[in-house]
Amino acid sequence: MKKVNNIAVLTSGGDAPGMNAAVRAVVRTGIYHDLNVYGVMYGYRGLLTDDIFPMESKSVANIIQRGGTILKTARCMEFYEYEGRKKAYENLKNRNIDGLVVVGGDGSFNGAMKLSQEFDIPCIGLPGTIDKDIAGTDFTIGFDTAVNTAVEAIDKIRDTADAHDRLFIIEVMGRDAGYLALHSGIATGAENILVPEHTTSVEDIINDLQANERRKKMVNLIVVAEGHEAGGANGLAKRVREQCPQLDTKVCILGHIQRGGNPTTMDRILASRMGYAAVDALLEGIHNVMIGIVNDKVAYTPLDKAVKAKQEIDPEWFKIVKILAS
Ligand code: ATP
Repeated sequence: MKKVNNIAVLTSGGDAPGMNAAVRAVVRTGIYHDLNVYGVMYGYRGLLTDDIFPMESKSVANIIQRGGTILKTARCMEFYEYEGRKKAYENLKNRNIDGLVVVGGDGSFNGAMKLSQEFDIPCIGLPGTIDKDIAGTDFTIGFDTAVNTAVEAIDKIRDTADAHDRLFIIEVMGRDAGYLALHSGIATGAENILVPEHTTSVEDIINDLQANERRKKMVNLIVVAEGHEAGGANGLAKRVREQCPQLDTKVCILGHIQRGGNPTTMDRILASRMGYAAVDALLEGIHNVMIGIVNDKVAYTPLDKAVKAKQEIDPEWFKIVKILAS
């Protein structure tokens, strides 16, 4: 087995609370094993621009509780091209870096997979995304914090909806994945939840609202993922206002607050465990996998499988939502 001596860590794609805790765990575990650990600024862009610096134990002091990422993150178009990845590899090789940990979403894993296939650089992915849209792990870093942020906001909306007998249509993040909508909607007792993976027709929603009105249920919360085919909260509100003009319909788009804030205990623990496991995997010669936690155990998923597979939402959840909101 080839010994790993110098490793680098970067954060890529959309930021997620808990990325700092993951970086901290990678750095401190690497140092514990006498590795040289480098930080890469701005994701793959930093690999191309050689924005790479040696990290020490104290570089990651006082960050476990902070949202965002001290390594910053970015999207990098050049990395989609072979020439860009070649440049990235050369910068890694100039420092004798022989292992790379990438904290990011499925796009970032796609990039890592190509880099590892085209060049001799072992990569480990850590799932850092508020969307929880990656197979091979029960949870992703940042999801729990984002759900809690959304729940806190929606609870407040329910108070004002209740005071005025209003319908609130609340949009949460999720272009292709509805887990954030599903979890935050269930936890706040939403009357309906719309996710991109599951077809809920606007007609069904309107029928439900009319039925609720007949039985004098005037406070309704609908949580909709931004990627739902109805056109997010604004698209849905337009249709509802046309067909139910008597309802006092308001829209609230939670937006980027869902990405920020201190990571929850769960995300800090998840990220710490995954960061430790990433270094462990590199030392064990396990390469080009994503670290997941499945049934409370560390699980490895080849990067190409983590990329392609999406988590499915069990349709039974929608039955539960209906029953509990009735
Ligand atoms: P999120 O889930 O938050 O969107 P992500 O990791 O999926 O995170 P992307 O913007 O898809 O975010 O990818 C991050 C970066 O990874 C891209 O800017 C690009 O540099 C690299 N990348 C993504 N897909 C590929 C690919 N197919 N080939 C090479 N590099 C890629």
